Amino acid sequence: MIFIALGTNLPSQHGTPVETLKAAVFEMEAHGMEIMLSSRMWLTAPVPFDAEQPWYHNAVVAIATDLSADDLLTQMLAVEEKFGRVRSIKNAPRVLDLDLIAYNDKIIHDGERLIVPHPRMHKRLFVLNPLAEIDKNWLHPKVGQTVQEMIDLCDNTQQAKVLAEGLYDKPI
Ligand code: ADP
Ligand code: MG
Repeated sequence: MIFIALGTNLPSQHGTPVETLKAAVFEMEAHGMEIMLSSRMWLTAPVPFDAEQPWYHNAVVAIATDLSADDLLTQMLAVEEKFGRVRSIKNAPRVLDLDLIAYNDKIIHDGERLIVPHPRMHKRLFVLNPLAEIDKNWLHPKVGQTVQEMIDLCDNTQQAKVLAEGLYDKPI
């Protein structure tokens, strides 16, 4: 499966973070990504923790697409840009972050532009918790662990709450 993680911690022209994520999946569909499955939305503390920053809304979706991994990243960056994302310093607040978590079982290391599976996904509960709602048995092709195993090995001081609301109409 192809997984994309979504995150936001600033309001956008679409409204609140919840409205932003819902608008983002529709925009993704217009850019060649067919949303097949979605996690619920999670409210998570910034990693690394920063008391000055608002908490993030996160979700993970599984998509189907005809795009290559490289073209997919290009389309994801176009969606981010449409939502007014401005890249400033590392870990700065953002209106929309789209990360390519996995592209089937492919291992890609195209310089710094595209690394798949995403190089920090296995340490981030804000990715792993929603991903587990879609497929907790998915096996990381490089780390060799399932989503559940990676969760169990994570630093569990990362704070998160699940929001009852789903991101997308098609339930998991
Ligand atoms: P982060 O998401 O780590 O906070 P950015 O969203 O600013 O950082 O991404 C920085 C760069 O990371 C992007 O311009 C992109 O080219 C690169 N990148 C490398 N691998 C991936 C991936 N799997 N998913 C998304 N971006 C990636
Ligand atoms: Mg990103």
